[in-house]
Amino acid sequence: MSFKAAISRLNRLPLIQKEYNFLTSVNHNAERQLNESSKSAVHYPLKNLLCAIKDNIATSDLPTTCASKVLENYTSPFNATIVDLLKTAGAVSIGKTNLDEFGMGSGGTNSHFGATRNPLFPQQDFIVGGSSSGSAAAVAADVVDFSIGTDTGGSVRLPAAFTSIYGFKPSYGRISRYGVVAYAQSLDTVGIMSKSLDTIEKVFEVLNKSDQKDPTCLDDGIRSRLHTSSKLKGKLRVGLPLEFTPNGIPKELQVKLLKVLENIQERGHEIFPVSIPDIKNSLPIYYTLATAEAASNLSRYDGVRYGMRELGSDIIEDILYAPTRAHLGQEVKNRIVLGNHNLSSESFNNHYIKAQKLRVKLIDEFDHIFKCSNVLTGSEGNEQGVDVLLCLSSIGKPIPITKYNNATSKDPINCYINDIFTTPISLAGLPAISIPTGPSETVGVQLVGQFGDDFTVLRAAREIS
Ligand code: GLN
Repeated sequence: MSFKAAISRLNRLPLIQKEYNFLTSVNHNAERQLNESSKSAVHYPLKNLLCAIKDNIATSDLPTTCASKVLENYTSPFNATIVDLLKTAGAVSIGKTNLDEFGMGSGGTNSHFGATRNPLFPQQDFIVGGSSSGSAAAVAADVVDFSIGTDTGGSVRLPAAFTSIYGFKPSYGRISRYGVVAYAQSLDTVGIMSKSLDTIEKVFEVLNKSDQKDPTCLDDGIRSRLHTSSKLKGKLRVGLPLEFTPNGIPKELQVKLLKVLENIQERGHEIFPVSIPDIKNSLPIYYTLATAEAASNLSRYDGVRYGMRELGSDIIEDILYAPTRAHLGQEVKNRIVLGNHNLSSESFNNHYIKAQKLRVKLIDEFDHIFKCSNVLTGSEGNEQGVDVLLCLSSIGKPIPITKYNNATSKDPINCYINDIFTTPISLAGLPAISIPTGPSETVGVQLVGQFGDDFTVLRAAREIS
């Protein structure tokens, strides 16, 4: 991207924002910063690249709202590690992107700032998919070269599929989460979205680093032991999980998946049907564990330590924080209630512990499928196993926002079902990328690798793109 082209993008920003509502705040210093980095003699790896940062990632120059009324006026005193890394590499942020409040949602509609609209459906008000809705829209509308999202159960991959771009969620712990507002920290990852695989690789190189400030970020010792299943050339062994091809998938999506499979075979790679039986339990496991973690994480928004406070009516007699916490959105409140229920003595064993056990079983099943070893679990890998798995990114396509809202208000399951193909991968912490099945095509497929085998996933993405 040339400096001139970047400036012309910045000029289009107000118009695009009006159409798609993808930003929660704008960096008014972007032009100056671009000027400075472009004139500098230093060779910045991300020079002249514009980016946008999801608004659940801490920045000291712009508010960090998580698209919540509760944090409407909150500005962090520090930058997230990734924000500093991107700046040091020469990237310039245009602002913070809209999202489902605290990352909870699959449509990009649960935002205090209103829904993000999908740039692939101009003037039609279609969902972008969530929760990294604004980050996906920024890339799709061509105002940035890449954007940063977070993916707890699919929030980078689903909106990437719905906007026909690449959405890469690296292995859990690859990218620092220091300064990323926690939703469910055993699942939260930072992801990269772009129309260009080259750009994704470049940005990943900048962000793929250990960080002492984040204890869950892989340290250099572990990084040196991470294996890769395939050399950079040669045939790939691609697994097709049978549980990911249920009959309920619309015909159109099945046809798209078949085309991708044909393309893979034509390029000389091999396809193997595989079975991962516990995939079918992923949605209940995910919504048990993610809500439990969220209930605990979100207890900090009490108006004392963070965010707004309902003065006058809060902390009076036995009312405590309720009036302040009433400002959380409905979906966030639902999940806090569900999470606390799952953690209560009555259901702890039956829900939370059961879900943890099933999660371990699921990870074990993934370990049996991959050729590559898993440094975290000690699995040595399966000689006959596959390099990557392939499946759809979603069970449907983008729909009008009103239709989506009606369906989810009738029954939240209508929203949760969108995560059926993405949550198993998050539960196992595996690297995955959503790839468009064609230009402007809003159906994506995911390539998934063994834990730590991110480079094979990226290589496979090149092979089938
Ligand atoms: N849709 C899922 C949820 O609401 C995933 C969200 C995410 O990855 N942040 O939990």
